[in-house]
Amino acid sequence: MAQEKGNISINTENIFPIIKKWLYSEKDIFIRELVSNASDAINKLKKLDAMGEAELPDDNKYEIKVIVNKNDKTIKVLDNGLGMTDEEVKKYINQIAFSGAVDFIEKYKDKSDDAQIIGHFGLGFYSAFMVSERVQIDTLSYQNGAKAVKWVSDGGTEFEMSDSDKTDRGTVITLYLAEDSLEFLDEYKMRQTLEKYFAFLPIELYLEDAAKEAENTEEKTEEKGEDKTEPAAPKPLNDTKPLWLKNPKDCTDEEYKKFYTKVFHDFNEPLFWIHLNMDYPFNLKGILYFPKLKHEFETMEGQIKLYYNQVFVADNIKEVIPEFLMLLKGVLDCPDLPLNVSRSFLQNDGYVNKISSHITKKVADKLTSLFENERESYDKYWSDINPFVKYGCIREDKFYDRVKDIIIYKSTKGGYVTLKEYLENNKEKHENTVFYVSDENQQAQYIKLFNENDMEAVILSSMIDNHFMSLIESKVTGVKFNRIDADISANMKQENTGISEQDVSYLETLFKETINDDKLKIQVEALKNESIPAVVLLSEHSRRMQEMSKMYGGGMDMSSMFPKEQTLVLNSSNKLVKAIIDLKNNESKKEDVKLISEHIFDLAMMSHQQLEPEAMSKFIARSNEILMKLV
Ligand code: ADP
Ligand code: MG
Repeated sequence: MAQEKGNISINTENIFPIIKKWLYSEKDIFIRELVSNASDAINKLKKLDAMGEAELPDDNKYEIKVIVNKNDKTIKVLDNGLGMTDEEVKKYINQIAFSGAVDFIEKYKDKSDDAQIIGHFGLGFYSAFMVSERVQIDTLSYQNGAKAVKWVSDGGTEFEMSDSDKTDRGTVITLYLAEDSLEFLDEYKMRQTLEKYFAFLPIELYLEDAAKEAENTEEKTEEKGEDKTEPAAPKPLNDTKPLWLKNPKDCTDEEYKKFYTKVFHDFNEPLFWIHLNMDYPFNLKGILYFPKLKHEFETMEGQIKLYYNQVFVADNIKEVIPEFLMLLKGVLDCPDLPLNVSRSFLQNDGYVNKISSHITKKVADKLTSLFENERESYDKYWSDINPFVKYGCIREDKFYDRVKDIIIYKSTKGGYVTLKEYLENNKEKHENTVFYVSDENQQAQYIKLFNENDMEAVILSSMIDNHFMSLIESKVTGVKFNRIDADISANMKQENTGISEQDVSYLETLFKETINDDKLKIQVEALKNESIPAVVLLSEHSRRMQEMSKMYGGGMDMSSMFPKEQTLVLNSSNKLVKAIIDLKNNESKKEDVKLISEHIFDLAMMSHQQLEPEAMSKFIARSNEILMKLV
């Protein structure tokens, strides 16, 4: 062809988003665009071949190669796809407004079934200029009698076209890297980038380091050909048939686990997984894994990788995937997603909403089927999956509605119960009240009391449980959660205190004086349990107000606004308490009675919450004093 020069035609409509992306997005997307184009070029040729519109050699094998070369500071992207004629270069490269991908899909849309054309995510071919001083295309079209074309541009606004010496079908893009982008010449860095985007590309992808190879050949010649072993055939760096494309019926547990480890570099086995595989009404494939938490208080940290025709798009795109699902780990391939549009568009796209609610439904279905058919495993998984389920319920009403009957609670009587079962079991003792334990160690004394009285509480000790309980209270009319130390149930008390009214008021005055805290209420009860002298109760309401003010008070001290409503319950069936009553008129024992009452209070406090440092030192000093009295 005759040499030709010209200006690349750009209209302002598409230059603005381009400049913006140019400035803000990650540099490595140029490689995503160029290899995607190479993949598109091959898929187009495959399609043409399948329609009998291309003549290919018998030993035709498709592949894409990326070659980094530190010596001449270039990156080459090679493909043996359909190539371009000079007319096509003029149309698709020189005029940014045209997308060959869109044209191709338009042209063959009736004839092609599953074209797997990627198209561009944003910048397309011109992203090459994000990292290059100069870009060169050498391309030879598959068409009979086509002539190879060379296209060169220094900066992306002017180009030169001429004949190319390329002799084999396909395209080579050569990037002459700018000084500030030389990091991509590093083989390791390039491998990482390619693996990130193309670990599952359907066409074999190879990476070569030209500089390193030149070095190796030099060494070999120096060794004078001693090493005669053939080098092993290079391996593609991608898996062209990822597991999510396989029919779930044909996948084994081993395959799912292996895939999980490989993709997420997590060597803990996942608990279970969901294989999404649908073609209609939209195309959605993928695998979602429920990870195992490493320790009890770990918050789940998931990762959902989104793919578009087997090319990685991004992690955790919240416009497509319901936020709570991001606590899981998984891969999703949605080739129907409109990727070329802005995120805010995605958010309001009815189609995207459908995908998102389909995934939500699938997750709920899987959990329900486990609950119904594998209850034992479900119980076992619960400690790992409960933060996820609860968070999902808080974030999404629809999800709550689907899973509300399969939420389970760990019971102090052992095993797990649903809310319905709990209320049913305990309706005679405390209708509609759910007693719960937020800290099994701290509340051990109260749990013991519950057990002795054949009462049941549930363990709700995760970070998310406060929110979760409020949610349930707002959803299930009448139900109220009460922490196990919030109240003494009638079931634990004997009919009457067994002591006179005078003695009751004596105890009240005695403890009021010794403890000297006017906010503390004193109450006398005869518990069925005779071994405990006293317990401290904290009203559920006031505790919640305090917790809220701590969380939202922004460091302001609001404790005076929400005083702690604490009650010291003295147990009149306990011997020690009885002994104090007996000593009421004994002047010589007055000091001892004071010591004992202070001690009773501290002990009750200690099984309720941690003592403050000052109270703790007093407690220790007093303990020593009491021991001294024994010797
Ligand atoms: P898109 O991929 O969305 O069409 P690009 O800017 O990435 O947009 O590419 C523009 C066009 O240039 C492509 O559609 C294609 O027609 C042509 N093209 C780019 N790279 C190649 C290639 N390696 N082989 C053949 N054609 C290519
Ligand atoms: Mg493209």
